[in-house]
Amino acid sequence: MKVFKFGGASVKDAAGVINLANIVKKFSGEHLLVVVSAMGKTTNALEKLARAYFDQGDDMHDIFEEIKQYHYQIMHELFAEGHPVFNEVNNTFVEIDWMLEDEPQDHFDFIYDQIVSIGELVSTRIVDACLNQEDIKSRWIDVRSYIHTDNTYRAGQVNMEKSCADIQQDIPALLEKHVVVTQGFLGGTSENFTTTLGREGSDYTAAIFAACLKAESATIWKDVPGVLNADPKLFSDTVKFDELSYNEAIEMTYYGATVIHPKTIKPLQNAGIPLLVKPFGDANAPGTVIREMEYQKITKPIVIVKPNQILFSISAKDYSFITENHLSDIFGLFAQNHIAINTMQTSALSFSACIDTYDNRFEVLLSGLQKDFKVRYNTGLQLITIRHYQTGDIQSFTSGKTVLLEQFSRNTAQMVVK
Ligand code: ASP
Ligand code: MG
Repeated sequence: MKVFKFGGASVKDAAGVINLANIVKKFSGEHLLVVVSAMGKTTNALEKLARAYFDQGDDMHDIFEEIKQYHYQIMHELFAEGHPVFNEVNNTFVEIDWMLEDEPQDHFDFIYDQIVSIGELVSTRIVDACLNQEDIKSRWIDVRSYIHTDNTYRAGQVNMEKSCADIQQDIPALLEKHVVVTQGFLGGTSENFTTTLGREGSDYTAAIFAACLKAESATIWKDVPGVLNADPKLFSDTVKFDELSYNEAIEMTYYGATVIHPKTIKPLQNAGIPLLVKPFGDANAPGTVIREMEYQKITKPIVIVKPNQILFSISAKDYSFITENHLSDIFGLFAQNHIAINTMQTSALSFSACIDTYDNRFEVLLSGLQKDFKVRYNTGLQLITIRHYQTGDIQSFTSGKTVLLEQFSRNTAQMVVK
């Protein structure tokens, strides 16, 4: 069997949904499980809705209305009046309407997941209905009964054992007769509440299903020809990799390449399942194959730009040396606040760390640090990582920018720039 994942950009309009159906048709002889994200930029819009509801903003109903109209528009292009999908989608929206009538009682992350999850719940209804209409026998399943998570809302930790057991119990039989369509990004707690796995988490969902079902491959269909050495939105002379080792792909995502969700590779690597990244506009194109490779010679440098970075410079209040005890306290605060360090450096008198901009966690970390340390920080920075660099490469990426921190290993150069 194969697992396919279609992201928001591939199902952003009616033509995209039809294109998805055409790709699935090409694989009609295969057992297929299809993981789908929310349509277009729906997740961003639902995030706004969750925030507006939590803050009881006046614009809450307008935001939701726009989300509904966007979906109805696509549905009207795909289905005749009275098609049962209109009811299914309505029922999902109505649950949120009910929620919006009352003032928020729960904490934000919980509310976020209950609201934002409807993006995938409705997109999969629409995709499932379209496949059936195109004479592809498909079956919608609620992923929340299969991907079991703890109750870390907005970052559900997947219980692999329990999830795999349920997936293996039910899905193979369904695949015999149907293309199975399900939601990316979502999970369910033991109390049947909805969780999400972190932004762009649908890739990870696809990897979990592929690993549990021992798939022949997992394919991520995207709006790029495959995995490129740099983001084509930022650089013009990009090259595509025909193949890439799991490890190189993990390094790339770790440093901030957004082509694949960072958690995707590990379950596939452990199960020895290749990950294909293919363009949804050209189903016959080879894309990129990510697989086990003993050695890979990479001749074109891989460039990853991570925006919205904050650089901390932390020193002792009495200007004494940064000791291992200081470092232990500092790391403790980062760990407590669940803040990952993207790159760091120590000198005699200071410790520097570059982190992503997290909404409110940054302030909590900052006030924790300020109790014992002198802290300076810069926001709105970029972290540029160049893998497999040549000495000459560095300058072209930093010219015209102020370099605040740089670090070179044999393989990898990193610069925090303004
Ligand atoms: N719809 C979710 C997001 O935009 C999950 C995904 O696309 O993978 O983050
Ligand atoms: Mg997406």
